[in-house]
Amino acid sequence: MSELRTAQQRVGEARTGLVVMKFGGTSVEDARAMLRTAAIVRGRRERGLAVVVVVSAMAKVTDLLLAAAAAAGRADKAGALAIAARLRNRHLDTAAELLCGELFTQIERAIQVEFDALDDLLRGIAAVGELTPRTSDNVVSFGERLSSRMVAALFEQSGLDGVHVDARACIVTDDHFGKAAAQEAAIERKLTELVLPLLYPASAGLYSANAERGQTPVMGGFIGATAEGITTTLGRGGSDYTAALVGGGLHAGAIEIWTDVNGIMTTDPRICADALRVKTISFEEAAELAYFGARVLHPSTILPAVQKSIPVWVLNSRNAENEGTRITAMAPPCASPFKSIAAKKKLTIIDVVASRMLMSHGYLKAVFDVFDKYRCAIDMVSTSEVSISLTVDSNERLPEICAELKKIADVKLEGHKALVCLVGEDIRGHNGIAGRVFSAIRHINVRMISQGASEINMSFMIEESDVEDAIRSLHAEFFAEPDPTVFDVEARVVAVKA
Ligand code: ASP
Ligand code: MG
Repeated sequence: MSELRTAQQRVGEARTGLVVMKFGGTSVEDARAMLRTAAIVRGRRERGLAVVVVVSAMAKVTDLLLAAAAAAGRADKAGALAIAARLRNRHLDTAAELLCGELFTQIERAIQVEFDALDDLLRGIAAVGELTPRTSDNVVSFGERLSSRMVAALFEQSGLDGVHVDARACIVTDDHFGKAAAQEAAIERKLTELVLPLLYPASAGLYSANAERGQTPVMGGFIGATAEGITTTLGRGGSDYTAALVGGGLHAGAIEIWTDVNGIMTTDPRICADALRVKTISFEEAAELAYFGARVLHPSTILPAVQKSIPVWVLNSRNAENEGTRITAMAPPCASPFKSIAAKKKLTIIDVVASRMLMSHGYLKAVFDVFDKYRCAIDMVSTSEVSISLTVDSNERLPEICAELKKIADVKLEGHKALVCLVGEDIRGHNGIAGRVFSAIRHINVRMISQGASEINMSFMIEESDVEDAIRSLHAEFFAEPDPTVFDVEARVVAVKA
């Protein structure tokens, strides 16, 4: 009985000595970037960690493959094959720069075989003149298939014991081509069967800390396959999701998302030179920021990791010493109410005014139905007795939407608006926050205000031309004396001295 309990506890336990490292397109964009990536992985292995690497396609390759697929779908065979030829050369040139001897010969052959298959596929699509989501996934999967093989070969050559694992053998999904849903239980079984023994060869599946003797599996992100083996993809930007699935399935101690920024910042450093790196942020806070355009990663993609309480780090492969940002399930206590300020421009406010709203129900529904019909997302809403104000992304369907709304109300549009959003779990614990926010920007005209139902964001609408001013004023108000446990204050001291 007690033995059984110990076994169960061990199954739920994190393998603290295992880290999943995901490198995005810019971290594998050319030979130099791949060498930088190899050096970063070497650093982790030298600390005695077992490492699984997930890579994106080389930068821009996914877009080009989609363009080739679209060209073939229009029966433009020559156009599609021209793109494929350029991609073939780019991969061959990079391999030639990186690899030598037998290893180069092997990879060169593999690249030629893959691109011959891609050419056949494109010819087939062009002959039919129709591109299905299923064939599109097949075409676009070549990016990650190739980048992962090249990185694995480089790791083999550089003494990191690289070994290629076809992600399609592990990442089991449904057949929703273009944005397939992962089947986590099946994935965990496949990873345990195929990847774990590579990491811990002496005692496959157990917890020997023999990381030095293990290999470094390298797999492509973004791609998977159905249980029947048909290639699928997880949706654009899906490599982060792959990393979370692999980390979750293997019960890794940490997941590292290597990108080209220093992590999540208190605001856009291009607007505010004294923006600080946020050392730790909660999953919910990061999700809120992503929605408002912070470009680091889309947190829903790391949900599988957060659910298992595996910390996720956002790190910069061009500045590997930087500690990055740690995303955790729960925010640590923070003396500042906010973690970060984001802004979203190019919004339009629509005022819908109707006296009929007095006493009449069903009116809001009628208004929202119009937006629904044109699949137009609404960012913010505020209502009064006789009016509804909504904000939307500038949308080419707006004229049609307005024409329909005019049948039931008076409609007024105001463009060139921006949404400023302050995010922080600690809004809850602080009184008088709204007073501080609006007195910091009292010189700016505020059109609409909302405090999110999530209670972790406060946002308001202003003129686009006031965004820089508003962000600097708010940043000065809330980050003048930042909490050093949550923000990288050292960096600011250095910046001020320099
Ligand atoms: N290569 C894919 C994309 O560009 C997946 C990724 O990089 O995350 O969307
Ligand atoms: Mg990405």
